[in-house]
Amino acid sequence: MDRFDYVIAGGGLVGLACGIELAQLGLRGLLFDQGDAPSAPRAIGSAVINDHQLLDVGSSRVSAINPASIEFLDRLGWEAHYSGAGLSPFSEMRVWDGEGGGDLGFAARGLIIENDRLRWALYQAAQALIQAGRLVCRWQTGIQNIQDVAEGVSVLLTSGETVSAGLLVAADGAHSKTRDLLGIQTLAWQYDQTAIAAVIATGRPHGQIARQCFTPDGPLAFLPMTEPDQNVIVWSSTKNEERLDLPPAALCAEIEKYGERALGRVRAVGPLAHFPLHQQQAHRYVGKSSVLVGDAAHSIHPLAGQGLNLGFADVKALAAALQKTRFGSNRSLTALLEGYQRERRPLNLRMMATTELLKRVFDPPSPALRLARNVGLRWLDSQSRLKQALTLAASGQL
Ligand SMILES: Cc1cc2nc3c(=O)[nH]c(=O)nc-3n(C[C@H](O)[C@H](O)[C@H](O)COP(=O)(O)OP(=O)(O)OC[C@H]3O[C@@H](n4cnc5c(N)ncnc54)[C@H](O)[C@@H]3O)c2cc1C
Repeated sequence: MDRFDYVIAGGGLVGLACGIELAQLGLRGLLFDQGDAPSAPRAIGSAVINDHQLLDVGSSRVSAINPASIEFLDRLGWEAHYSGAGLSPFSEMRVWDGEGGGDLGFAARGLIIENDRLRWALYQAAQALIQAGRLVCRWQTGIQNIQDVAEGVSVLLTSGETVSAGLLVAADGAHSKTRDLLGIQTLAWQYDQTAIAAVIATGRPHGQIARQCFTPDGPLAFLPMTEPDQNVIVWSSTKNEERLDLPPAALCAEIEKYGERALGRVRAVGPLAHFPLHQQQAHRYVGKSSVLVGDAAHSIHPLAGQGLNLGFADVKALAAALQKTRFGSNRSLTALLEGYQRERRPLNLRMMATTELLKRVFDPPSPALRLARNVGLRWLDSQSRLKQALTLAASGQL
């Protein structure tokens, strides 16, 4: 049986980042994923508009990442491999209520990245470690069973192979089988909303501003892309099932209307992606020789655009804890993992609570609440100290 320092279940963005980070600490690891290895993203030509359809554009599966995540990714060496689309920075956020005059703007730096392009870039950054034998990757391989052994865990893979390691990291997403096998329960609730995402072409340039409008049936975000007239919309709504079948012209009109023409005319829309939404938090993040990171530990509504940022922050905190073992701390691994949990779980819970509060405040159609939130947004916009705090929170520093 092959033995590693760590085994990671799940090679999504958080799992891959974790694989690189721990290998860079000098540890030897195995990462496996039930899906395929990341594939090279296709090159994008000039976008073509054909009868309100936007063709030959990048993927609509994008994430807004904050400066703390960018600094972390820089350490992993991603940027040299993030090719073909350019990077799309933003410097400000504007949030407004689609049912009144409340409007809030604050400085918030970050990047909009395409998830598949970042995953490919991380996989390329991992190649040197893979070639040096410090990180072994197995694709199309799931998890079947976990057993505690004296020196850590023994993991049975769906390929029939058994591997053992000092630490098992669950990074296999919101529906983590590893978490289930570890017997860790979650507090979870489904939303009546789903999210749709698509690239759109607009009449006015985005000016590198990330925008979010709270429409009557859910938040509609406009994330600025590399092209000045292209944004990705992420619309969390109770009415998305109906929107899926709309012809492009009607969908453009719908986005334009509910987005209050903030970017002028919506000229065209690319292919729609559709996601279920739920919020979930694991009761605990650690076992004797196992730990949860990313969406396996917590998943939150995308209105705050923070799930991936929290996942990267988990990996940083885990690596910092493990570094203590390496440099001679005589605390046991379990005690170090508990330290990781003590650091990360309250912060992730706080973000989850804030997101839930925002969702509830903006959800109900009651006229009194609508008036209160409009007054609230205008008041917040006039408070420079609070806006500073929002800037810090958006940059991952609070
Ligand atoms: C519409 C939308 C918009 C979002 N926007 C943002 C944003 O702007 N900013 C932000 O920070 N976050 C955002 N998020 C959240 C972010 O996308 C997630 O938090 C993040 O992708 C989670 O990454 P992960 O690697 O933990 O999980 P996943 O991406 O789910 O990866 C899990 C991996 O594990 C593998 N796997 C699953 N089961 C098994 C198994 N049994 N065995 C082996 N492998 C397995 C899967 O194949 C996958 O590769 C958004 C989410 C949504 C839905």
